[in-house]
Amino acid sequence: MRHRMILGNITHAFEDGGMQRTVLDHLSLQVSEGEFVAVMGPSGSGKSTFLSIAGALLKPASGEVWLDGEAIVGKEKQALSDIRLNKIGFIFQSANLIPYLKVEEQLMLVAKLGDMDKAKANERVRELLLKLGLDHRRSAYPDKLSGGERQRVAIARALMNDPAVLLADEPTASLDASRGMDVVRMIAGEAKERGKSAIMVTHDERVLPLCDRVLYLENGRLIPQR
Ligand code: ADP
Ligand code: MG
Repeated sequence: MRHRMILGNITHAFEDGGMQRTVLDHLSLQVSEGEFVAVMGPSGSGKSTFLSIAGALLKPASGEVWLDGEAIVGKEKQALSDIRLNKIGFIFQSANLIPYLKVEEQLMLVAKLGDMDKAKANERVRELLLKLGLDHRRSAYPDKLSGGERQRVAIARALMNDPAVLLADEPTASLDASRGMDVVRMIAGEAKERGKSAIMVTHDERVLPLCDRVLYLENGRLIPQR
C-alpha cells in the first residue's frame, strides 16, 4: 500500500538553558493511504513538535520526511509553503478562523491562495459545507458560530484543497464529548473515503476506537499502544 506520509529517523532538539534537550529521538512512522493514526503522550513529550515536522512547518535536525512520494527536507521556503498549501490540511485545538470573514469566505481564501479555479472552488465550498452540516451557516461570521460549528469550519478549511495528509493537534480539546466524536468521525471518514493519511494528536480516549492505530510518544519515539 502506498504511504502518503513517511517520517524516517527524525531527531530534533531544543535549546534549554544552554543545553540541547532532545525531544524526538530517531522517530519513524509510515502512514498509508486511508489510514488514520492517533498519537498520545504526556504534555511536553514532543507531540506538537512531531506534527510540525510532519507538516513541513519545522525542519528536523536530522531525518527524512516524505509527503505523497516527495522528500521535503531541504526544500526552499517557497516550495515548502506550496506543499503546505496543496498537500497538507492542518486542524488545531482552536479553530483560528479569521474574524472578519464569513464561513464561505474562509474557505474561498484557501482556494485563492492555492490558485484553485473559481468555479471549482465554489463547487467544493458547497460540497464541504453540506457535508459538514454548515450549509445554513455559510454567511455567518465566526463570532456567531458555536464551538462545534467553528471547529467544523476549520475542518472544511483543512479539506478545501483536498490535501494528501491531514494533521490534527488535539482537535477535540475545546469541544464537548458528542461534538468531539463528530469531529473525529469526519476526519476518519475523509481519510477512508478519499485515501488520505491522517494523524491526530489527542488526549481523548473516547475517540480512539475511530482510529486504525494508536501510538504513544515516549522518550522521543512512537511506540504501539500496550
Ligand atoms: P507536546 O505537544 O507533547 O505537549 P511539544 O512538542 O509542544 O510537546 O514540546 C516538547 C518539548 O519541547 C517541551 O519541553 C517544550 O517546552 C519544548 N519546545 C517546544 N517548542 C519549542 C521551541 N520553539 N523552543 C524551545 N523549546 C521548545
Ligand atoms: Mg502540543
